[in-house]
Amino acid sequence: MQLALSEEQSLIQETARRFAETELAPVAATLESPAGRPVYLAKLKQLAELGFMGLNVDPEYGGTGAGVVAFSVAMTEIARACASTAVAMSVNNLVCEVIQSIGTEAQKEAYIPKLCSGEFPCGSFCLSEAGAGSDPSRVSTRAVRDGQDWILDGTKMWISSAEYAGFFVVWAVTDATAPSGKGISCFLVDADNPGVTIGKAEHKMGQRASSTNPVVFDDCRVPASAMLGDENAGFRIAVGELTGGRIGIASLALGVGAAAIDFARQYVTEREQFGQKIAEFQGIQFMLADTYTEREAGRLLVMNAAWMKETGQPYMQAASMAKLFCSEWANRACYTAIQLMGGAGYTEEYPLERFARDARVTSIYEGTSEIQRVIISRELLKEVS
Ligand SMILES: Cc1cc2nc3c(=O)[nH]c(=O)nc-3n(C[C@H](O)[C@H](O)[C@H](O)COP(=O)(O)OP(=O)(O)OC[C@H]3O[C@@H](n4cnc5c(N)ncnc54)[C@H](O)[C@@H]3O)c2cc1C
Repeated sequence: MQLALSEEQSLIQETARRFAETELAPVAATLESPAGRPVYLAKLKQLAELGFMGLNVDPEYGGTGAGVVAFSVAMTEIARACASTAVAMSVNNLVCEVIQSIGTEAQKEAYIPKLCSGEFPCGSFCLSEAGAGSDPSRVSTRAVRDGQDWILDGTKMWISSAEYAGFFVVWAVTDATAPSGKGISCFLVDADNPGVTIGKAEHKMGQRASSTNPVVFDDCRVPASAMLGDENAGFRIAVGELTGGRIGIASLALGVGAAAIDFARQYVTEREQFGQKIAEFQGIQFMLADTYTEREAGRLLVMNAAWMKETGQPYMQAASMAKLFCSEWANRACYTAIQLMGGAGYTEEYPLERFARDARVTSIYEGTSEIQRVIISRELLKEVS
C-alpha cells in the first residue's frame, strides 16, 4: 500500500491549504450571517476555478480527474477553514460522480460541466424526507408516469445547498407495489422546473453558511429523459453513492477537528498559569497526545477508504469506519480544544466555538454514527455467517 501522497496529490493538498488559509479562513466567521451569502457563493466559484468542484470527475466532462485520495486531502484542507464551504464541495463532487457513473451521455454533457465550472454554484442531493432519514427506503415522494413524462409530488427535507443549486438529484417511488426499497427511481430536476419550491432555510447549530432547506415537488413534470439510471433501481444508486459521500464527510470532519486542536495547541504554548506555560503541565500534554494520536488513526482510516475506492476495491466498510471514527473524533477534538483554552475557548473571540458547532453534524448527516455501526457490523458478521 502506498502511504505517501503522489506529487500531484501533494500539489492539490498544498493548493487547497493555501486557498483555505488566504481566501477562506479570514472570512469564514462572517459567512455565517445571511449577508455573507454573496461572498460564500463567490468562494464556491473560486473552488470551481481551482478544479475542486469535480476533483474525482473525468476531464472529458470538465473535471480534474485527480482521484479520490486527492479529493479527500483537499476536502480536509478546505474544512480546516470553513466546513460550510467544504460541505458544498463534498456534495457537489458526489452529485457529479453519481451522474458520471450512471447517467446517459446526454445527461453527463448537460450537467457535469456546469457543476465543475461553477456555472451552477452547486448540485443538490434530494433523498431525505420527514419520514425517511436513516431509512431512505421509506421515501414517499411519488413519480407517476404521464405519457412521455413523469410527474413528481412530495417534500424532501434537509437538502444541503438547495437555495443555490442548479438542479436536484431526486429519489421518488415509481412502483408503489414493489417491496420496500425496490420501486424507487432517481431523477434530475432543474431548480427552475415548474413545480419546484425551495422552503425556508433551517436555523442550524453549525455549518450555517451552507443552506439547508425543504424542497417541495408539486405536480412537477419532467421528461422521461430526466430519469437517472434504470427505472426502480434508484435505491441501489443512493446506497452506492452515499458510501462515496462518507469519505468526503470523514475528510471534512478530520479538517474541522484538526483546525480546533491545532489552534488550542498553539494557545497552550502561550497561556501562562501558576507561573508557567500551561503546555508544561503533563495533564495538558496528555490531552494533546491522545487527540493527535487519534487524529492520525482517523487520517489513516480515511486515506485507506479513499485508496480502496480509487483502486476499485469494495470500500463500504472502510468508508463507514472512516466516517464513524473521524466524525466522532472531530467532536471529541473540538471539546478537548475548548477545554485546553478554558473560558477563552468558549467565546466567539476565538473560532473554537464555531468549529465545535460545525463538527456536530458530521456524525449525523450522510448516515448517523449508529447507521455506520449497523453497516460495519453487518459486513463483519457477513464474513463469518
Ligand atoms: C445539516 C444537514 C444537512 C443535510 N443534507 C442532506 C442532503 O443534502 N440531502 C439529503 O437527502 N439529506 C440531508 N440531510 C439529512 C440527513 O442525511 C439525515 O438527517 C440523517 O440521515 C438522519 O436522519 P434523521 O434526521 O431522520 O434521523 P433518524 O433517522 O430519525 O434518527 C434518529 C436517531 O435514531 C437513530 N437510529 C435510526 N435508525 C437506527 C438503527 N437502525 N439503529 C440504531 N439507531 C438508529 C439515529 O442514529 C439517530 O440517533 C441533512 C441533514 C442535516 C442535519
